[in-house]
Amino acid sequence: MIPGDFEFKQPASKDEALSMLRDGGDDARPLLGGQSLIPMMKLRMASPDILVDLRGLDDLRHISIGKSIHIGAAVTQHELIGSEELFNVCPIIRETALVIADPQIRYSGTIGGNVANGDPGNDMPALMQCLDATYILESSEGIREVKARDFYEAAYFTALQTGEIVTGIRFPKPESGHGYSYQKLKRKVGDYATAAAAVVLSLSGDNVKSASVALTNLADTPLFVEKAEDILVGSQLTLNTIRATMDAAEAIMEPVSDGRGSREYRTKMGGIMVKRAIEQAAMRADG
Ligand code: FAD
Repeated sequence: MIPGDFEFKQPASKDEALSMLRDGGDDARPLLGGQSLIPMMKLRMASPDILVDLRGLDDLRHISIGKSIHIGAAVTQHELIGSEELFNVCPIIRETALVIADPQIRYSGTIGGNVANGDPGNDMPALMQCLDATYILESSEGIREVKARDFYEAAYFTALQTGEIVTGIRFPKPESGHGYSYQKLKRKVGDYATAAAAVVLSLSGDNVKSASVALTNLADTPLFVEKAEDILVGSQLTLNTIRATMDAAEAIMEPVSDGRGSREYRTKMGGIMVKRAIEQAAMRADG
């Protein structure tokens, strides 16, 4: 399959890109790595008249680390994996990026395209919810910020408005000594998740000091498990507290039955991913 005709625009600056998207209205789409959009265009499930290529925009390409971490939308999965500075402060980013697709796709696919896409199978959105990230959205009208936990409305429906792009992602630097784990069950290398869970937690002795849990591909949006914090924080990681967290997570899952398994199987596996992620995060945390 080949895509329909479209006009390909390469803006020289972010402002020019925003003007092109404003002028193009609903007929224009931003393009980053093209690893989701181009396949959709080949299948004729998307047929924009204008593609505005954001890849050359330098101000979308940086990673900066201070009290909070800022990642530009055009940073590729490959660059996320390769950044030692990022790995040293937030290793779950590399762990997650490494289970996205395959090296060829990760070489072009970006964090901005991954979070903006709205595909429930994308891995970065749940991670961003787990890290309590904020998306920086820009249009020719100005800048606004939306939390990852509020951004996703339904499959392929997000808080993004016409003419608006994600320019970057910001989240608090996780506490040093935190534990982390991204557990993803997939049928084969390069596949989307049958079920996946992201966990970041910190310990004080045997007690959980902070905990955050989010889920991939277990509903038509990523899921932040709000009750996990109430269950885990202040408690010890006993079988009972882990079981209660699995139950809370399973209670909000609504996966579809598909080639990856029945709804019941995927829900059960979602619970198992939560359990494995909590256990691995706890082993990695400094008490
Ligand atoms: P693009 O394809 O360029 O864009 C995706 C969408 O976001 C489009 O609608 C586009 O208009 C919009 N968009 C792009 N940039 C912006 C922006 N800055 N602001 C607003 N909207 C924007 N992903 C996973 O997470 N896990 C997987 O296991 C996985 N497996 C894959 C397997 C295959 C075979 C393929 C082809 C892809 C897979 N992907 C997977 C998807 C891949 O990670 C994509 O790279 C990613 O989803 C989109 O990033 P991109 O930079 O390629 O975005």
